[in-house]
Amino acid sequence: MSEQTTAQAEQYTYQAEMRQLLHLIVHSLYTNQEIFLRELISNASDALNKARFRSLTDKSSAPAPEYKIIISADADAQTLSVEDTGIGMTREDLVERIGTVASSGTLAFLEELKESGKPLDANLIGQFGVGFYSCFMVAGEVQIDTLHVEADAEPLLWTSDGQGTFTIAPGSRSTPGTTVTLHLKEDAKELAGEYRIRQIIRKYSNFVDFPIHVGDKAVNTVKALWKKRKEDVSDEERAEFYKFVSGDFADPLGHLHLRLEGLVSFDALLFVPAKVPASLYRDETRRQLHLYSRGVFVRDDADDLLPEYFRFIRGVVDTDDLPLNVSREVTQSSAAASKIRTALTNKILGLLTEWSTGNEELYERFFKEFGTVLKAGLWSDFQRREKLLSLMRYPSTKTEGTGTTTLQAYIERMQEGQDAIYYLLAESLDTARRSPNLEVFARKDIEVLLLADSMDAATIPSVQEFDSKPFKSVTQADLDLDPGEDSLPGDDVDRILALFRLQLEDRVKDVVASKRLVDSAATLVASADGVDLQVERVMQAINEDFEAGKKVLEINTGHPLMKNLLELSTSDAADRRIEQVIDQVYEGALLLDGELREPSSYVERMTRFMVAATLPA
Ligand code: ADP
Repeated sequence: MSEQTTAQAEQYTYQAEMRQLLHLIVHSLYTNQEIFLRELISNASDALNKARFRSLTDKSSAPAPEYKIIISADADAQTLSVEDTGIGMTREDLVERIGTVASSGTLAFLEELKESGKPLDANLIGQFGVGFYSCFMVAGEVQIDTLHVEADAEPLLWTSDGQGTFTIAPGSRSTPGTTVTLHLKEDAKELAGEYRIRQIIRKYSNFVDFPIHVGDKAVNTVKALWKKRKEDVSDEERAEFYKFVSGDFADPLGHLHLRLEGLVSFDALLFVPAKVPASLYRDETRRQLHLYSRGVFVRDDADDLLPEYFRFIRGVVDTDDLPLNVSREVTQSSAAASKIRTALTNKILGLLTEWSTGNEELYERFFKEFGTVLKAGLWSDFQRREKLLSLMRYPSTKTEGTGTTTLQAYIERMQEGQDAIYYLLAESLDTARRSPNLEVFARKDIEVLLLADSMDAATIPSVQEFDSKPFKSVTQADLDLDPGEDSLPGDDVDRILALFRLQLEDRVKDVVASKRLVDSAATLVASADGVDLQVERVMQAINEDFEAGKKVLEINTGHPLMKNLLELSTSDAADRRIEQVIDQVYEGALLLDGELREPSSYVERMTRFMVAATLPA
């Protein structure tokens, strides 16, 4: 940040990243430009919350003013201003908070979106902690006239045209608060109309906690919806409120309106969104739960009141049991917070169970969006594991297309004498369905769960059981497959294994006779006790130093190919075809697992075989 002092005003240059971001905002955000007003009102509301919070917790502070937001417009001058009686800003705030990009990934994310060629929705901007800058979409110049509540604060006037620099000069406020004034661009001058302003406020900011005045009357309905009896809240009101707290445009998939009294008391209004919000995987800007204490806003990131696997939930919790002036850390470790967390978790699980058992269509929509997130609970919440498992949906060898089954239904279909829930881990559902490891199960008509979701390899292998039935990977299954007529006698098995071991040498850890192959010649597992390749990949992802071990090749000793190989080796031990076939079998198994990095020699060999096979007799 460079600084240049003139008689009155100091000039500052935006950091480079901020300049790029501003350029993007001004030139690339096309749809929903009107949200700039929501961003300014939301900043004003934050500032009012901070001021109210301070006066409630700091006895020495000055008497509280009337907390409100005043919006005025001047059509002739083409200006629009948003004033609040909130906390105000210091010089440091103006320089550090207004002039910098809060989250480092913001620019990259917006650039990426821009490159995708889709029209950029201005609504995105608020999610990245740079909401203030959305006003440059509609204004050529912006001024911030502010005075911080601190007793000795100086009034300041910040001015910028959103290009490369801003200035800070003495301001004109005599009471704490902030006035943001926009000098509207020619094509945005309709925004200086009061009717239009009221319309935008009703659309985006109706539930702001403080009165918003336009002209001489308040526009919004200041009321704590969650404090009302649920019978008194209409669906429309609730949906509107959801959009307000979540920033989502669509209606929620469902909601939970709770009032709890007893060990801990709170009101809550929680929502399940219909789609994964863009911010779900961007931790720093999640803003999941709004926490209130006796109706006073405390913070909007109380996600510690919900387990990680419910991080898609949005809404409000208002409690009498958490004091206002405690830090985030204290709140987290307090007994009341932990009780609220338990109660919320159980209630949400209850709602999902209700959907899962009574409204399959709704539940499927939910699971498709949030199933992967929910699965994280399988390792983090041991206590509720069984409950969570009953909410899972998995494709299996008995479901079609993208259809899924519950574990309960799987168990009902288990064969006489079947003692485990079998699963197969794979990269994709397609790979899973084609896996040689399913052959013996198909022959015995035993159902296998096909787990291709990235979370499955990380969760299911560590889950012991469901409904007292153990989970077992097909690669660990010890099924007795009746030896077919074609199987080789024991000595021959040893000889064929020896042939493979000799040829593959240190490319594999070992070669063993398979119990689960019927039609295929061979398959790879990660170790002799059948650890799955996918599980190994998870370990690698978690721990960089984890070294994937060499694989074990399982061969189907009943396969005609093995008999032919043996015959070849008896008649001519030096026949080059033996080596080539073994290489081909091994690389074919790699290919099926998506692990064949260098396919050219595989294809070359294949071509040679085809030449041989097509020779005229
Ligand atoms: P965000 O609100 O997501 O933090 P903004 O770019 O909208 O991002 O605002 C940046 C910061 O500027 C705010 O966090 C706040 O500290 C400060 N700020 C903005 N508007 C006001 C205001 N009206 N009163 C006091 N501080 C404000």
